[in-house]
Amino acid sequence: MTRYYWLVEDKAATARHAGDINAAHRWKLPGLASCPGCGATWAGAGHYYPAVDLSALPEQASFLKARPEPFSEYARLRELVRPLAPPHVPLPPGTRFGPLEGTARGDLGPFTWIGNALLLMRQDALEQLQMKDVYGFIGGWASLRFRQKSPPAYFEPQLQPHGRLHPDCLPRDATPPCGTCGWVDLSRPEEPVLDATAIPPNLDIFRLGNFATMIVSTERFMNAVLQSKLKGIRFLELAMR
Ligand SMILES: [Zn+2]
Repeated sequence: MTRYYWLVEDKAATARHAGDINAAHRWKLPGLASCPGCGATWAGAGHYYPAVDLSALPEQASFLKARPEPFSEYARLRELVRPLAPPHVPLPPGTRFGPLEGTARGDLGPFTWIGNALLLMRQDALEQLQMKDVYGFIGGWASLRFRQKSPPAYFEPQLQPHGRLHPDCLPRDATPPCGTCGWVDLSRPEEPVLDATAIPPNLDIFRLGNFATMIVSTERFMNAVLQSKLKGIRFLELAMR
């Protein structure tokens, strides 16, 4: 049986690279201000679609600034994006699209992280993984301004939500998601368990469907990284049920 791993930043490895990066995706859905269903004001994390291009939308200016909006405006903008987004993905408030844009300096290493849920791969690292036939790399090149000459290129894989955490590792008394906006009050369990019945076929790396900040890979992906001696990711094996 294939094993699955939760990917987190290997801080001991990334700390050896004295670089930093400050970037955000070009387009975003607004956050939601006081949902008419549940009252929550929120924006989701981990819903990033770097390969989705909104530049042809007549209203693309409405997607440039992160801000909270009332439900009707959020829902209107969401429906404008939906035909451009991959089919069947949730588009919660705060979903991001298009290339990362910003500044960077120094050496960022083969893998670099922005927060704990956004993984970037240097071009040579991506190419090494592709040579090992790891599946699932659509994505986008980050548009980073470096100060140094001939800076490296970084790729953000578009990791779509698939699979889910098993209900056994979630609190039994959890309230179901809001029927209007999808808000759910859930923190990451201490010991996450993958639902073995909902694992996507033919994908070596993805995000969890009900926990988009968790990046999960197959053993194949992990082995490709380890064999290429690429540092920056720690692989934590996930229990499955
Ligand atoms: Zn709600």
